[in-house]
Amino acid sequence: MELFFKNAYELSEMIRNKEISSRELTESVINRIEAVEDRVEAYTTLTKDNAIKTAIEIDNKIQRGESVAPLAGIPIGIKDNISTKGITTTCSSKMLENYIPPFNATVVDKISNAGMVITGKLNMDEFAMGSSTENSYFKKTKNPNDLSRIPGGSSGGSAASVAAGEAIVSLGSDTGGSIRQPASYCGVVGLKPTYGSVSRYGLVAFASSLDQIGPFGRCVKDVAMLQSVINGYDKMDSTSAYREYSNLSDNLKSDVKGLKIGMPKEYFGAGIDDNVKTAVYNAVKQLELKGAIVKEISLPSTDYALSAYYIISSAEASSNLARFDGVKYGYRTKDYDSLIDMYEKTRSEGFGDEVKRRIMLGTFVLSSGYYDAYYKRAKQIQKRITSEFISSFNDIDVIATPTVPSTAFKIGENTDDPLKMYSTDICTVTINIAGLPAISIPCGRDEKGLPIGLQLIGNKFSEQTLLDTAYSYEQLVGGFKMPAVL
Ligand code: GLN
Repeated sequence: MELFFKNAYELSEMIRNKEISSRELTESVINRIEAVEDRVEAYTTLTKDNAIKTAIEIDNKIQRGESVAPLAGIPIGIKDNISTKGITTTCSSKMLENYIPPFNATVVDKISNAGMVITGKLNMDEFAMGSSTENSYFKKTKNPNDLSRIPGGSSGGSAASVAAGEAIVSLGSDTGGSIRQPASYCGVVGLKPTYGSVSRYGLVAFASSLDQIGPFGRCVKDVAMLQSVINGYDKMDSTSAYREYSNLSDNLKSDVKGLKIGMPKEYFGAGIDDNVKTAVYNAVKQLELKGAIVKEISLPSTDYALSAYYIISSAEASSNLARFDGVKYGYRTKDYDSLIDMYEKTRSEGFGDEVKRRIMLGTFVLSSGYYDAYYKRAKQIQKRITSEFISSFNDIDVIATPTVPSTAFKIGENTDDPLKMYSTDICTVTINIAGLPAISIPCGRDEKGLPIGLQLIGNKFSEQTLLDTAYSYEQLVGGFKMPAVL
């Protein structure tokens, strides 16, 4: 197998045993990018020279016999809403097209301290608003399983790069499903961690109470390793959870004997494709045959989740995006007569349609006449959804659902129908609303050969249980296969 398609945990062994150098691996990934990027379009910025430089530094350290962290020398791509010092951080928006942050996000410091090799910044829906990466100002990323289809979103570049071998692992962000949904569409593994377990310092905010950075990989172990690098308390993020974080990959075990899995009936109703349901049922059945105990549960408020999510997230977005006014940083319109005129023109020209739609919706639901009818009620629903999840974890360990109702759709198929686009998030938004961790892993393909995702949801800070369950399934099916179309 080519180096660029191997898993990070194998490659890191090879690097530390001096079977390969990080430079060889990095060049393999860069050559792969050169071969397929014009078709996949996963990156907004490439940092090839810096990548080679870091790789050589790691190789030299290893040559000198110095100890290096487990993922040292491994190429990683970063979603373009995570601040990277000296490297453009555009959020795939015209507004930040030329913005170069003067600081690193905490996660970027962490992966750099671990010796990881940054290959570049990854395309996304503008300001992380979207489900297909079609809302990027720069380009449309393609699904490596079928180039006529979307890779999902908003972290479409993060999922597609890993599926296509253009990165070994990557970082994305998830506000309502943006890690899990593209992971499902592209056939890779994606983890949305517990709210507060990964620092948001340096992540450009979409909806601060829901946003969370998380890892993508081609296998569960890689995701566990990367999560162990990025998690932990950070005094720079006031919502960071102060607690002990144990190493998730060292403790990974494939044993589901006695594990109680709940299947919420509301996630298997109308609107979920039959082939998705069948694949998810079959996956859970296999875990049951290995000793898991499966039962049906009910989460009755699920029906209200999408409405609550789009109200809360848009309300927060309208406030967070107020900072892009042409004064402090980013785009500024060329001709204007007054300060107000400058604000108006800058924001009209700098933001795309979807971002404007969210700002208008958010401003509306927070306005004095409508606050009680919309925002307040959405917050009440959030409470109900959260308490239904928490009480269901009194007698189950893990909840299993589809990640997305159907497989990847064609580019352009849903662009004129925002509601249809929003409905792809039906199975994922509840988890952000409740602040829980959830992982998406591949669990089969439909008749067109497109990947289907299984979502496993756990109680707060139960990442180890989720990863163990995912790892058990991966062992049962003999690993996940990457697409061969490229
Ligand atoms: N698709 C959802 C939205 O557009 C989720 C986005 C996200 O998780 N960043 O809001």
